[in-house]
Amino acid sequence: MRTCAVCNTRTPDETERCPKCGADLAVDSAAARSLTKLRANPRVRDIRLMVRADACPACQAAAGTYLKPVAPALPIAGCSCPNGCEAFYEPALNEIYP
Ligand SMILES: [Zn+2]
Ligand SMILES: [Zn+2]
Repeated sequence: MRTCAVCNTRTPDETERCPKCGADLAVDSAAARSLTKLRANPRVRDIRLMVRADACPACQAAAGTYLKPVAPALPIAGCSCPNGCEAFYEPALNEIYP
């Protein structure tokens, strides 16, 4: 599933525009916005892509830690999870030294 970050409408993974408000989900989905935010945060060193233990093979293959510029967009290409792609991002933070 994709969630529109403008109006919170949930749509299938293949939807490119929010049917309710017309937002471009490549930019204004919850996942796309969270990726943009992580990339802009200097404390975030790398981006982890997390998937459920029972996610489809495409999601399992995509799971892992990525350098910020190459982290893949969600939903994962070729995802066949029964409820749609449920992968999400987590930040890998820079160590803070006192
Ligand atoms: Zn919307
Ligand atoms: Zn999947």
